[in-house]
Amino acid sequence: MPKKKSGNEALEKKLSMERKSAWSIYSDSEVKKIFSFCEDYKNFLSESKTERQCIAEIISELSDADFTPIEKMKKIKPGSRGYVEFKSKSLVAFIAGADMEQFRIVGSHVDSPRLDLKPAPLFEDSELALFKTHYYGGIKKYHWVNLPLALHGVVFAKNGRKISVSIGEEPGEPKFIVPDLLPHLASEQMKKTASKAVEGEDLNVLAGNIPVRDEKVKKKIKFNILKKLYDKYGITEEDLIFAELELVPAGAPADIGMDGAMVGAYGQDDKVCAYTSLRALLELKGAPAHTAVSLFVDKEEIGSYGDTGAESFLLRSFAERYSAAAGAACSPERMLEASKAISADVTAALDPNFKSVSDPANASYLGCGVSVEKYGGSGGKYNSQDAHAEYMAFIRVVLDKNKIPWQTGELGRIDIGGGGTIAMLLSRYGMDCVDAGPCLLGMHSPCEVASKADIYSAFKLYNSFFKS
Ligand code: MN
Ligand code: MN
Repeated sequence: MPKKKSGNEALEKKLSMERKSAWSIYSDSEVKKIFSFCEDYKNFLSESKTERQCIAEIISELSDADFTPIEKMKKIKPGSRGYVEFKSKSLVAFIAGADMEQFRIVGSHVDSPRLDLKPAPLFEDSELALFKTHYYGGIKKYHWVNLPLALHGVVFAKNGRKISVSIGEEPGEPKFIVPDLLPHLASEQMKKTASKAVEGEDLNVLAGNIPVRDEKVKKKIKFNILKKLYDKYGITEEDLIFAELELVPAGAPADIGMDGAMVGAYGQDDKVCAYTSLRALLELKGAPAHTAVSLFVDKEEIGSYGDTGAESFLLRSFAERYSAAAGAACSPERMLEASKAISADVTAALDPNFKSVSDPANASYLGCGVSVEKYGGSGGKYNSQDAHAEYMAFIRVVLDKNKIPWQTGELGRIDIGGGGTIAMLLSRYGMDCVDAGPCLLGMHSPCEVASKADIYSAFKLYNSFFKS
């Protein structure tokens, strides 16, 4: 005789929460869409190695979609598309809504950890020319040795001429590298803690090896590199002080895994959210219910300080210009206060190789959808925006209504570390705000890994949020 069902089976299903892979929720045709979406994403990443390149790429996509700089807009009406750029490093793009006096803001950051050249970087030692670097953001220094690097940035010559530099991405172009110590001679190095195995002052990249054939010249290899810089760009050693030159991992993003389900690339924190929120904005048709705003900020990786970071007043400055051009009745401050925001940033995925740092019940898993995190911070939720339950409930409706695979978690076990986002800087205007973005493996490493299902889920959340 078959066993009688207790009735608890169905009830258990109804009452319990179960983790589900987004890949098993998406239909076959959606999976196809996800893969093609991520091809565009990988191209975007290739063009956006630095914050400046990323903003330039965003402007190019906005221009193709009829967005205009706000100063060229006569009058903002529902459906108007515009943007404000701040110093080539931050940007606010918008589509005016039917209700023009409330924003739906998705904010991401476009800077990523890297090695910057020091103001006086070039020196010669042991038959080599090298560049000194100063790392930017939270890196594990030992990640940056033995890694082919490309150099990107700008230099200003004495006459004020701006010179763009990009070396190491095109086939045939030389790259740069910090060679690590060979294991044969590393017995002392291997006894050090990982944070000391490679020190900041030792992250010098190889810049050249050929001396000029002139006995009158003292530093022959260094001189040869200076000559090359002068011949190619017309710049001198002193000009390098008036520059922003950034070394980043060279090369294009790659699919990861036999099923190609993941993207491995530099700078996905947080360009994965920059890209998905840009696409979410670009794919809106007509005027959304409220004004949709994509905010792209710089300097998040060094604390959001500075005039292009989220800690500055650039969002308020945008709101002022917007409200003037829209002829809004309420003040920019009240508009911001009445707004709703998503702090679009990545979080940590539970790593099967390093399980002990996560609480498995409160961790994000690769491929289980966009991660919505009520709070971040560290040491007792310090330095975070702990989103209100009311607002969490609002986001839940957006997720459910649009059948978006999602998950929730915390960035690691309590008191083991932590991390911040721009959420607390958005929320100080009084707007509702919560963190939501894909989780990553190997965050802040030269090759971060994201699941394509999560990338697409983030896009869907931002797009649906803009329509809410
Ligand atoms: Mn981030
Ligand atoms: Mn980061």
